[in-house]
Amino acid sequence: MSSSDIIQLLPDSIANQIAAGEVVQRPASAIKELMENAIDAKATSIQVILREAGRTLIQVIDNGSGMSETDARMSFERHATSKIRQSEDLFRIRSMGFRGEALASISAVAQIEMRTRRETDELGTLIRIEGSDIKSQEPVACIKGTSISVKNLFFNVPARRNFLKSNSVEMRHVLDEFQRVALSHPEVAMTLHHNDTEVFNLQSGKLVRRIVDIYGKSYREQLAFCQEDTSYISVRGYVGKPEFAKKTRGEQFFFVNDRYIKHNYLNHAVVSAFDGTIAEGSHPFYVLFLEIDPSHIDINIHPTKTEIKFDDERSVYAIVMAAVKKAVGVYNLSQSIDFDD
Ligand code: ADP
Ligand code: MG
Repeated sequence: MSSSDIIQLLPDSIANQIAAGEVVQRPASAIKELMENAIDAKATSIQVILREAGRTLIQVIDNGSGMSETDARMSFERHATSKIRQSEDLFRIRSMGFRGEALASISAVAQIEMRTRRETDELGTLIRIEGSDIKSQEPVACIKGTSISVKNLFFNVPARRNFLKSNSVEMRHVLDEFQRVALSHPEVAMTLHHNDTEVFNLQSGKLVRRIVDIYGKSYREQLAFCQEDTSYISVRGYVGKPEFAKKTRGEQFFFVNDRYIKHNYLNHAVVSAFDGTIAEGSHPFYVLFLEIDPSHIDINIHPTKTEIKFDDERSVYAIVMAAVKKAVGVYNLSQSIDFDD
């Protein structure tokens, strides 16, 4: 290296902070990542505890697999993951996470305390991290699973902290993410507490129960069951009856292999299936699960993983539209609704 050379590798702490800009935009994004980690760890119960819309505290407690002492440390390294080993694995992803970036990113911009214990270990481990630096790690008696506290998000990045909106706006984002995760995994019990108030207490159960527990009893009578299977993809879930369409678009969900995604083209398929039965400018309620062989999709388009590509998008469109048409049609004909519980 001559004295005129100017290029240097970034230290990890700075690289992580930059990566954090993509993964952790606000408390809601951290909550999503932590809940997804709990799901990947096969938790059957997840508790989320927040203070000040997650600004000062996000705590996620799960009863999943837990981690060994070494894994607990490793989990905060960038590109450290237990979910991918070789490049072929990228084409068979079934887990929510796989990029190995979330914990590294979150810990770069917050103060972290994590307790974790595997079922077979007598003691768990308690690790404290601040802005990517491990401050301490020690054995600790704790229950099986993982409890991670993320304190003072963006404490070391004032620009990002100032970019956050009011607590009520941030809480809106939190509720959006929480509800998406809750809808995608009705088999997992979940609670949400904010400043000591219980916001949600969701028992594990069937999808229809989860929808009702989130949105209210009035939804129960408004749902039409939807199902269509082909060798390429299967679709199942619920659509709201035509007269139940809303003025706002907030309650429309696609999950592909249980992952929430945004897809304007598929939204168009659903709306088209209603074929003039909903008022202009209204938006139908839907929660639709698409199951497809992971080799037919690419979820690696964006770090937040909410955009995906299908290798045969036209077929997906046609099948989604057929499924919804059938559901709406059956409802119109017989008024009978098939609930799955
Ligand atoms: P990714 O989920 O993409 O693998 P993360 O940074 O979110 O990356 O997590 C890194 C690793 O830490 C995971 O692959 C997993 O092995 C472990 N891990 C994270 N959270 C948990 C948890 N709640 N329970 C058990 N293991 C976890
Ligand atoms: Mg993850």
